[in-house]
Amino acid sequence: MIAINLERSNRIVEALKARGVDKPCPRCGNLHFGVVAETTIITTEPGKQISTDLVVPTVIVACNHCGFVTQHALGALDIRPEEPSSAG
Ligand SMILES: [Zn+2]
Repeated sequence: MIAINLERSNRIVEALKARGVDKPCPRCGNLHFGVVAETTIITTEPGKQISTDLVVPTVIVACNHCGFVTQHALGALDIRPEEPSSAG
């Protein structure tokens, strides 16, 4: 899991807004969400090696009130996954 800096978080929020992701929380009706972190969903098939075709980079978004968590695939938002940086 990768923590997100403010600039990247804002870019993700703008990409979500541009796609109409502005509905209230389905669990509590709250209107405010936070971008929590980036992560990767790794899918596997029994007996097969994990390949890059089966990896889905995502961003985790959580309701600020009840904590309901959703994920959005970064590829659908035209945002490249952030590589972990060894510098700084
Ligand atoms: Zn909620």
